[in-house]
Amino acid sequence: MKTGEDNLIERIRRRIPSTAGGALQVGIGDDAAVLRAPPDADWVATCDPFLEDVHFLAAAHPAEVVGYKALARATSDIAAMGARPEVFLLNLAIPANRAGRWLDGMLSGMARAARKFGLRLAGGDTSRPSEKHPKIALNITVMGLARRGRVLRRSGARRGDAIFVSGRLGAAQLGLELILRGMHRQRKWKHLLAAQFYPAPALQLGQWLAQRGVASAAMDISDGLSSDLHRLCKASGVGARIYREKIPCVTVPDKLRALPLDALTMALHGGEDYGLLFTVPKRWAARIPKSFRGTALTRIGEIVRGRGLTLTGADGKRSAIEPRGWDHFRPRAR
Ligand SMILES: [Mg+2]
Repeated sequence: MKTGEDNLIERIRRRIPSTAGGALQVGIGDDAAVLRAPPDADWVATCDPFLEDVHFLAAAHPAEVVGYKALARATSDIAAMGARPEVFLLNLAIPANRAGRWLDGMLSGMARAARKFGLRLAGGDTSRPSEKHPKIALNITVMGLARRGRVLRRSGARRGDAIFVSGRLGAAQLGLELILRGMHRQRKWKHLLAAQFYPAPALQLGQWLAQRGVASAAMDISDGLSSDLHRLCKASGVGARIYREKIPCVTVPDKLRALPLDALTMALHGGEDYGLLFTVPKRWAARIPKSFRGTALTRIGEIVRGRGLTLTGADGKRSAIEPRGWDHFRPRAR
């Protein structure tokens, strides 16, 4: 007899790429997936929760966006390690009233992301949340392959290394600010939501850096530059100095100037941009192009001895930067 859960799994399997072959030896349909890495490769694995009211708002993020973004966020950590995404596992808790149209929308967004990132669904599970707390919860595990011994780590930054970021910082936060003000419903601001809705993991850049072996350290910017640069520095046992004018901040349109939105604050402390933050020994810094496949690569500062981050202003004055990144929808000081 087919249970409701079997039906749900069948619907998911039909929508999302899941054909076995290559690294995925045995896929959906058995008790567990069987994976195989080529002899010269290592598995890289990460998991990421995407929870209603914590990571997304059902009233603001359409179902299709939830599916796309949940997978993109998790895949960004694979990009940050310089690996190639292969398979993912989905754990989904979904209330009965979302198992119809909402689920179809979510699956179509997730399928689009899976095709774009080269991922196949290797398995997973579904459940109903408790009646007391009927919220949607996605937990996604992504696994990728990296050439043996060639992953990008956070811990290799050394004094004098140049610090780079990819893309524009604060763009996802600007989209969130519009959502928090209910302005995302206005068509004229729709284009400002793309970075918030459809983040692009830096897969090609991560693999390029790993293959070239030029980056001494790397990670993705998920919680904001201030928090993530602190993490990279801590892992490497160093400090950092960055320059105000070098930071590639999001552009706030003139028509939004009335809002208390500061581009530098959003660039430093806004999360979810999912670009890469990486360091390169000074003698190789000139080998980093100004842009990589249409995404700007910007040198924003250098690694220094000691601990802590400082920001050098246009006047040459230095101030300390505290980690004050993305804390989801919790109230915070601005
Ligand atoms: Mg990360």
